[in-house]
Amino acid sequence: MILDNLKKIEDQVSSSCVKSGRNRSEIKLIAVSKTQPVDIIQEALKAGLKDLGENKAQELRDKAELVKGDFYWHFIGHLQANKVKYIINTAEYIHAVDSIKLAEEINLKAEKINKKQNVLLEIKTSDEPAKFGFELEIDIFNAADFCKKSSNLILVGLMTMAPYSDDEKLIRNCFARLRQIKDNLNRNGLDLNELSMGMTNDFQFAIEEGATMIRIGTALFGNR
Ligand SMILES: *Cc1c(COP(=O)(O)O)cnc(C)c1O
Repeated sequence: MILDNLKKIEDQVSSSCVKSGRNRSEIKLIAVSKTQPVDIIQEALKAGLKDLGENKAQELRDKAELVKGDFYWHFIGHLQANKVKYIINTAEYIHAVDSIKLAEEINLKAEKINKKQNVLLEIKTSDEPAKFGFELEIDIFNAADFCKKSSNLILVGLMTMAPYSDDEKLIRNCFARLRQIKDNLNRNGLDLNELSMGMTNDFQFAIEEGATMIRIGTALFGNR
């Protein structure tokens, strides 16, 4: 089932790449394996997936004990500072850094194990009330600056979630905004390359707006 789903997703990724003049190799497909049991994860790895996304710290810690191989773990969920310790050893990327306090704790824990930790800042690009992330430009710049000055953080990009909606324009605006913020930061001395945006319902729009990391669960594994 995963192979069939993956083929369908790859067809859609390709068509969005063609439509926007992009190259497939610019885009990482992150298989969001949250709630999936180990045997299903093994199946995803067998299908050739190289990036797995989890959103709960203890779940990632436990799965990382059980699933080993030639792939990368991405922590994509909201992370509390006191749970950084569960994922610091295994997460190649931490996508949703949404406070300076969290960035500080990640830097501290990474320093302890002598690791340079890839992080992305989560940005709130819509006005949905219950979303995490930096919103004001000044806060975004301060957070980026903090990461840049932190010895054990590598700020590689930005992450966002568009609202669950069938309003294409609204969704595209969120993704376009993330790209603009990245460009703006880069004009001010940063060097960000990654845009983590797009899930099952909107990854084609995300690719067309510049995504370099898409996070797909349902389309790959079925309903959770
Ligand atoms: C669950 C989750 C996804 C994947 O969502 P699907 O709609 O199942 O593809 C992507 N990003 C984050 C942050 C998630 O929590």
